[in-house]
Amino acid sequence: MLIDSHCHLDYPQLAADREGVLRRARAAGVGRMVNIATRSTDFDAVRVTAEQIDDVFCTVGVHPHHAHEEGENFSTEDLIKLAAHPKTVGIGETGLDFYYDKAPRDIQEESFRRHIRAAQATKLPLIIHSREAEEDTIRVLKSEGPSTGVMHCFSSRRILAEQALEIGFYISLSGILTFKKSQELRDIARDVPLDRLLVETDSPYLAPQPFRGKPCEPSYVVHTAQVLAEIKGVSPEEIGRQTTENFFRLFTKVKPLAPAGV
Ligand SMILES: [Zn+2]
Ligand SMILES: [Zn+2]
Repeated sequence: MLIDSHCHLDYPQLAADREGVLRRARAAGVGRMVNIATRSTDFDAVRVTAEQIDDVFCTVGVHPHHAHEEGENFSTEDLIKLAAHPKTVGIGETGLDFYYDKAPRDIQEESFRRHIRAAQATKLPLIIHSREAEEDTIRVLKSEGPSTGVMHCFSSRRILAEQALEIGFYISLSGILTFKKSQELRDIARDVPLDRLLVETDSPYLAPQPFRGKPCEPSYVVHTAQVLAEIKGVSPEEIGRQTTENFFRLFTKVKPLAPAGV
């Protein structure tokens, strides 16, 4: 079994053929999918999708790209309340994106801090989006005190992987791992202990090779796992077993039952 720890099933590219997307994911051995929230206005749809589909879970949070549009729509208290839903299994995605800089950096940071506090209160994992913001991501996390979670779609410099591992976080790899230009990322992945890795698609974005440039979907997580297996010198089955075990250790609200709907 593989788990797609980060996808956006309600984005139009995937919602248009939901049945097909789910069928292909299950046929590829994807046993769980986490449907990630990115704004307060979309959360109801994200949650309803998780309510309707046994093997889909969801998160609650505001993407750093939208931090300035949201104001304080999602206060720490709001996040805590919404996280009580049985299918809401994580807080995010949140974090800092200084590459696109869509929201002012201080507003991204304030939003990030609200999410960290909600994760601490609920003991749920944070789903962190960090781009060109290695030092600040760690600075903010450390200043708020202990929390746990995952550096999703990891594509940062080595320093963030090292520091994240040090404070107990996991590293999640997406299709970027399979891109030709991603040698530095593959070198980092080789050095991350196998018991701290997750895999994801971040679909509909970032389709792995050989589908690069096409809309991505959860079934493609297989290709990222395949490349990770080559990097680690283990079988794809071992990657599936280990990343699944890691996922259940981190996402404690998701119970390791038999795959649904296969
Ligand atoms: Zn992201
Ligand atoms: Zn995402």
